[in-house]
Amino acid sequence: MTIPLLDLKIQYQKLQLQVSRAFGRVLKSTQFILGPEAVKFEKDFATFCGVKDCVVVSSGTAALYLILQALDVGPGDEVITVPNSFIATAEAISLTGAKPIFVDVLEQNGLIDVDKIPGMITKKTKAIIPVHLYGQAVAMDKVLAMAKKYNLLVVEDACQAHGASYKNKRVGSFGRAAAFSFYPGKNLGAYGDAGAIITNDLRLATNVRLLRDHGSAQKYHHEILGFNFRLDALQAAVLNVKLKYLNQWNSQRQKLVANYNQLLQDLPLILPNNIDNFTNLVYHLYVVRTKLRDPLQRFLSDQRIGCGIHYPIPIHLQPAYKFLGYKVGDFPITEKLAKEILSLPLYPELTDRQQNFVINKIKEFFNKK
Ligand SMILES: *Cc1c(COP(=O)(O)O)cnc(C)c1O
Repeated sequence: MTIPLLDLKIQYQKLQLQVSRAFGRVLKSTQFILGPEAVKFEKDFATFCGVKDCVVVSSGTAALYLILQALDVGPGDEVITVPNSFIATAEAISLTGAKPIFVDVLEQNGLIDVDKIPGMITKKTKAIIPVHLYGQAVAMDKVLAMAKKYNLLVVEDACQAHGASYKNKRVGSFGRAAAFSFYPGKNLGAYGDAGAIITNDLRLATNVRLLRDHGSAQKYHHEILGFNFRLDALQAAVLNVKLKYLNQWNSQRQKLVANYNQLLQDLPLILPNNIDNFTNLVYHLYVVRTKLRDPLQRFLSDQRIGCGIHYPIPIHLQPAYKFLGYKVGDFPITEKLAKEILSLPLYPELTDRQQNFVINKIKEFFNKK
């Protein structure tokens, strides 16, 4: 049996007919960029998230960048975020000309340690970007209280947390705006690059709409300088097919996680746990921890079980960020997690038989130790 970390084929087979029909509609219309499919998705995803507006863009990275740009974050500004994320979170800050300032994370869940924020605030601090990593939800009331105290903007990186909620409100609806990615492997994934911003601030949404399309609301009239961050209509069409299934897929992930948690509990592994009872997690990834991470990954890989490390090198230690002057030891918890974390196979279509195979192989590994 071969079990990949993520298998998108089964889901595609189930949706093939619907996706082909949707693609057919777009191809026939020859409206290949944005258009009615994009408008429909914007409306439906805003409703799903419980916010006033959604603007689709070309990727999650673009979404983060466009929010910051629309909020006038730029050279001379500092933006606080975590080193325990995909590099895009920090890259978007850097692309505006602002400087990313990192704070370490909580060991129990890898999410921003809000109590560490005050120590990093300067006169230049303009915004905070909490990251809802692995489909978890950051304790947003703490973030919002901190932001209020220091007069900071809150921009949520919800790229891994479609449908997660905190105190019965969807993540992404707490800050001034949030970025989502629909990269194919995300909980809601397109068949290529895609992203969106959501917000309750209609002026901000208008601004992002301008920025994503050359600063233009009317063809060849350019009010401000923007760029091309538009979404393909084909991607919007896939998202319209898939959005209807998101809740169902997320519950399937939760069921699989409950199974993993139960059947792995007696092993010397640190399992993900919901440290905040007010959150509903959607498990983009199932991440366990062990000091034996590398040998375990090798063992599973030999058994043709796909695993991943999200992420092996913290952002502050990436060569690309050498110029910020951070060094090993600056964020000890993030660095410790990077050495111990392992993402196990998880996707809604993972069968019990496949999951049991993974679990038994992990047991076999520890029995030999
Ligand atoms: C995927 C992801 C992004 C970037 O999204 P893209 O669509 O790949 O540009 C940003 N932040 C986080 C946390 C992500 O997981």
